[in-house]
Amino acid sequence: MAVVKANAYGHGLVATARELEVIGADWFGVANVAEGAVLREAGIMLSILLLGATLPEEMEEAARHGLALTVSSFDEAKLLDRVARALGEPVEVHFKVDTGMGRLGCWHPRAGMELARIRRLPGLMVRGLWTHFASADDDARMTKAQWKAVAPLFAANRDLLCHAANSPAVTRRYGFHANMVRAGLALYGIAPNPADQSLGLEPALTWKSRVSFLRAVEAGRTVSYGATYRLPTRQRLAIVAMGYGDGYFRLHSNASEMLVRGKRCPIRGRVTMDQIILDVSKVPGCRVGDEVVALGRQGREEITARELAAQARTIPWEILTNVGARVPRFYKNFRTLKEKAALS
Ligand SMILES: *Cc1c(COP(=O)(O)O)cnc(C)c1O
Repeated sequence: MAVVKANAYGHGLVATARELEVIGADWFGVANVAEGAVLREAGIMLSILLLGATLPEEMEEAARHGLALTVSSFDEAKLLDRVARALGEPVEVHFKVDTGMGRLGCWHPRAGMELARIRRLPGLMVRGLWTHFASADDDARMTKAQWKAVAPLFAANRDLLCHAANSPAVTRRYGFHANMVRAGLALYGIAPNPADQSLGLEPALTWKSRVSFLRAVEAGRTVSYGATYRLPTRQRLAIVAMGYGDGYFRLHSNASEMLVRGKRCPIRGRVTMDQIILDVSKVPGCRVGDEVVALGRQGREEITARELAAQARTIPWEILTNVGARVPRFYKNFRTLKEKAALS
């Protein structure tokens, strides 16, 4: 299952999903009905699982779009069964078991009985059975205990799609794959655990802007809101057309770097909504229009999502999902887009 929730981790939902479909995804995982509906309206026919819970008033729309729903209890399933029978079409469900995440799912000791009752509801077609790991990236003991809690249920329901592993569970090589894994972050080329660099994953995304203005500023002056940075020496400053309005964290103020002409350049002062000030004193020949890489490679340098995450006290997942709606996405080497170009 290719997890494409949150705008395909910021990469752009529809274009990314089309490509993943062509290169072999069997299922898509999304958070909610709205994301599933966008995929269906774009003509995507692949199976789609809603990983979140669905409100009673959203069930009909989900069913009409042919989305598979996650249910965590018989009561929830019964509501959906009523909707399905009113529509006259079976609705697919994946029954979720809580083995320690404590979010959705039926607490595992009761799950077998609950599942048996759900399987008798005539309007539903139970397709899947699943659980979610809480700490696959850093707690092997807990992950193994969670697997142990769900394994008998998986074994007793071999006719269903059984799935547990997210990216960290896959890349940490637990082998808890059952018959499907739900990969998000790793699919976008980022190792969930810094110890897994040997996997050789390559980030799919580069986030860039350009130098929109250049100036020299004298020592002693300050830059940006709050005057949090005072120049100790004369510097050449580049104004970059990017800000927290694009999803670049304000926490990166005076804390991060961007790449210009293959060199790391420090951010000076506060990140503002639409503009960021970079010190390009060490970049000879810097010009208006130069490419500025906030995330990704330029020349021999690279700024990783992990680096940005550490500076903003978050995780690589949030760096990616935060790339905003204002940022245009361009896709290179996508088979689906080449085919489209060839047709037109
Ligand atoms: C987001 C999500 C995933 C994917 O997680 P990654 O760590 O990005 O692979 C898998 N399963 C569920 C239930 C999720 O919500």
